[in-house]
Order: sequence, then structure tokens, then C-alpha cells
Amino acid sequence: MDVERKKTKIFERLQTVKDPEIPVISVVELGMIEDIVMHDDCILIKVLPTFLGCPAIDMIKDNLIQAVEAMGDRAEVEFIYAPPWTSDRITKEGREKLKKFGIAPPPAPPFRQGQWTVACPYCESLHTVLENVFGPAACRSMLYCKACKNPFEAMKPIFQKEREYHSCSK
Ligand SMILES: [Zn+2]
Repeated sequence: MDVERKKTKIFERLQTVKDPEIPVISVVELGMIEDIVMHDDCILIKVLPTFLGCPAIDMIKDNLIQAVEAMGDRAEVEFIYAPPWTSDRITKEGREKLKKFGIAPPPAPPFRQGQWTVACPYCESLHTVLENVFGPAACRSMLYCKACKNPFEAMKPIFQKEREYHSCSK
């Protein structure tokens, strides 16, 4: 198998590795996989952590290694911080999956600071109010839809310029 085909196969395989907190979306759809480097004796997966310090990151690392090793290859994971992960790296499919799961996806770019209008994932209404900036995971917020009267979660937008101020701890 040539290198490019093998890489494609590994990407497909990594689709099975889901975010431990949001099990409908894969790390590929989250835009976390920056590169796959084929070495003679192992496969190096370069990963951009979505939120610094979230405990899920160790679990993701183990799951990535297991996924590749199940194909008969040795794997290593390297976390890299350049380029920084930003919420606009989430793919279109990933955004749809978040919505179906009841989590409003972060806004697609262009996005201006202070303009975070969140559409309800159930009824698309923009009549939503922020209930709690810190939801069940610090990376998500709790909102309430005034139209269909459902509470829902939204993934916070993380963009490069504000990245350094963001911390996952409460
Ligand atoms: Zn609604």
C-alpha cells in the first residue's frame, strides 16, 4: 500500500475515535488531527488539543493509539499547539452532529468578538438566553430557548486571538 493510501486509511480509522464528552463527534470532525507522519517503525499522529487542560485529552490519546494499533501498526501521539486549535476547524459534518446531539455548534467564521448569537439546536430560533457561561463541561455554556422552552448547551467559540486567555478551569 502506498503512503498516501495508507494515510487515508488511517484517517478513516481515526473517525472511530470520538470525543469522550460528546460521543457523536469524532476527533477528525473536531479538526484535532493536524497531521499523520509515516515513520518506518511507527505512525506519528499530530494532534491539536481542543481545550488546554481538559482531562479528556489523555483518553483521546489512548484511543487514537488503540485505533491505529488495531490496524497492526505502532502509533505515537504528539500534542502540538501551533497552529492553535480554533472552533472554526470543526467540519460541516461535525457541526451538524453537534446540533443533532443538542449542542449548538460554535459560530462559523467570520465571527466578531461580543457577537455570539446562538441558534437553538432544536428549533433554530435565535430567541435564546445565556443561563450559565460554564455548563457541565467548562468548554460549554448552558442556554435556554425562549421559543421552544428547551434548555440546551452551546460550545463556546474559541478563536486564535482570544486563545491565550482561555482556560478550561472554572
Ligand atoms: Zn428552541
